[in-house]
Amino acid sequence: MLLEDCRYDGSHRFDLSKYPTSAKTDKAKKAEYAELTAKNTQLMAELQEKLYAEGHEGVVIMLQAMDAAGKDSTIKHVMSGVNPQGVSVYSFKTPSKEELGHDYLWRAVKNLPQRGNIAIFNRSYYEDVLVVRVKDLRKTYAMPSRCLDESDDEFFDRRYRQIRDFEEYLWENGYRLLKIFLNVGMEEQKERFLARIDEPAKNWKFSPGDLDERALWPQYMDAFEKAIANTSTKHAPWYVIPADQKWYARWLVSEAVVGILKDCDPQFPEMSPEDRAKMAECRERLVNWK
Ligand code: ATP
Ligand code: MG
Repeated sequence: MLLEDCRYDGSHRFDLSKYPTSAKTDKAKKAEYAELTAKNTQLMAELQEKLYAEGHEGVVIMLQAMDAAGKDSTIKHVMSGVNPQGVSVYSFKTPSKEELGHDYLWRAVKNLPQRGNIAIFNRSYYEDVLVVRVKDLRKTYAMPSRCLDESDDEFFDRRYRQIRDFEEYLWENGYRLLKIFLNVGMEEQKERFLARIDEPAKNWKFSPGDLDERALWPQYMDAFEKAIANTSTKHAPWYVIPADQKWYARWLVSEAVVGILKDCDPQFPEMSPEDRAKMAECRERLVNWK
């Protein structure tokens, strides 16, 4: 499988069930892929340094997934390849009262990186068309009736349009988005939950509520399918990454991160002739320093 096979840019009909959760025939090639991932990690470090030095583009890496799909370990891995100065991680939890008192893009905007930096979003404003859709949370919102009166489809179609517009706005203002759906299978999630229950060191990762979310699997897949179908664009495509084998997902994510940093094509800033002359003077001064 190639990263290209995971990419969906909205140019044809989207069918989530056509996207695998498993590495399939690549399953036997773990060592090879681990090596490729290590190379990408190195490349990522080099590109990020230039991105930071240049300070022209901001990059947002968004991770969406069902529980236990590996968001946290993917973030840990991406972080291992970059200089922490220049990267932030923000987790989108259940909104606070203050957050609910604002529009749903507010906390995303507040956490956008400065240009030259990378922000990793652990979940994102996509929760507002995923969990909010599945659990019908808009019924609990304090908003004027003109914002809530329509059918579900109308309400969420409007949000998809707002998200497309917002993402185009970001593109036009010097940002690039990498939107990743870690596509884990139901069977693999069960195995990972069992490990979280059985292994003491993993107990903290499990909460009984995770099973209530699992029970809503078909509704979540439907919401993911609609969200991805309606918000994938040329400048902000989605990547549906098979996530049953963590090492494989990690490789594909590393490919995607390297890809987006290469697209930025960052360069170390060029020195002006004046600055160069000044540096030569400083050099002279240092060499002769007594
Ligand atoms: P972990 O792997 O630690 O469980 P997590 O991302 O699942 O990580 P949690 O604190 O368990 O973290 O979950 C955050 C919860 O917040 C999720 O259930 C998510 O759906 C919910 N959430 C995030 N954004 C919103 C939102 N806008 N509206 C309602 N719920 C939201
Ligand atoms: Mg959770």
